[in-house]
Amino acid sequence: MIPLSVPNLNGKELQYIKKCIDTNWVSSAGSFVEEFERAILGYVKAGYAVACVNGTSGLQIALQLCGVGKEDEVIVPTLTFIAPANVVKYLGAEPVFMDCDDYLNLDPAKLRDFCLKECKITKAGLRNKSTGRIVKAVIPVHVFGNPCDMQEIMSISRHYRLKVIEDATESLGAYYTSGVYKNRFTGTIGDIGVYSFNGNKIITTGGGGMIVTGNKAIARKARYLTEQAKDDSVNYIHNEIGYNFRLTNLQAALGLAQLEQLKKFIMIKRRNYELYRKLLNQVRGVEILGIPAGTAPNYWFYSLLVEKKEFGMDRKQLMDCLAKKRIQARPIWYLNHLQRPYRLNQAYKIENAPKFWKSVLNLPCSTSLEKKQINYIASTICNLSGRN
Ligand SMILES: *Cc1c(COP(=O)(O)O)cnc(C)c1O
Repeated sequence: MIPLSVPNLNGKELQYIKKCIDTNWVSSAGSFVEEFERAILGYVKAGYAVACVNGTSGLQIALQLCGVGKEDEVIVPTLTFIAPANVVKYLGAEPVFMDCDDYLNLDPAKLRDFCLKECKITKAGLRNKSTGRIVKAVIPVHVFGNPCDMQEIMSISRHYRLKVIEDATESLGAYYTSGVYKNRFTGTIGDIGVYSFNGNKIITTGGGGMIVTGNKAIARKARYLTEQAKDDSVNYIHNEIGYNFRLTNLQAALGLAQLEQLKKFIMIKRRNYELYRKLLNQVRGVEILGIPAGTAPNYWFYSLLVEKKEFGMDRKQLMDCLAKKRIQARPIWYLNHLQRPYRLNQAYKIENAPKFWKSVLNLPCSTSLEKKQINYIASTICNLSGRN
């Protein structure tokens, strides 16, 4: 079976892990944790980094540090993994779901429209006229490693005083090549950014995450909250409610070895993306999703758009046919505003996301993928075109 996405652990992973075991430093106090934080900072050129147990916990801390609390609202994309919606609920706040643009990212035009038409600026903040609640923040997600239109999102958010938490869990290493954020990496533009090192992400620590920010006070507080809010570690004094969210040395060792290979991973992923695109864009009824102008994505996932009328089958039928040929493909996430916990939440003019939900199929994208496998996948899809 050609899998959708598997880790690539062919660097110094074992060597660094062995060092943890040889020195007896396996838990959070080990030196790899800070080394990994510094290495991430060096790569994305951010001010401060705080390692945590996963991307979800990083997002939760980020929201708390942006002042999101009970009865607030946070704008979240409907087309993304469910974690950014869930973290809003962890804080007792409510998500408002937003549509996507043509690259599957949060649509800035609709964000502006929502703030302008559905909300009003008050002393307490931006008030949602239909719910009466204060909209505190927005979570743009750089879906599949394609950078969001941060120029627009930041300008709208500054105007309406929304905090911006970048969910850069899928986009480590992606950056902008033009505009006001030229040469800036995703995750380093909003108030706080969060990366994930889950098993399927571009680099992995098994499970892990990182909070990055340019604000020293926020970074210090993030560290404090992720380490059980210890005010005096000898006498066990805790003046706030903290969390056990700190990454371990074993995980950080893995992360450091992985990060050393990130540039190479992106290069391979880009080359494979271009080969897929060249082969598949000639096939009637399918197309590999393009990349936004002025961006250098990390090419994490490859989305195939399947046009049922032209291609002859829908993405579900194509997925089943590929499975029979031992090729693993996966649809995009089910839309968040339709998930059971969120059906009663506000969803603003969701029009584009359902179309993508119907048509997107993600193709195998591991860095270990060989050229002949991509040729096999493309020719399999080609042979299925126009069959029905
Ligand atoms: C993976 C992911 C997360 C969560 O990261 P974990 O490390 O798995 O907790 C959050 N948001 C998006 C969009 C993701 O893809």
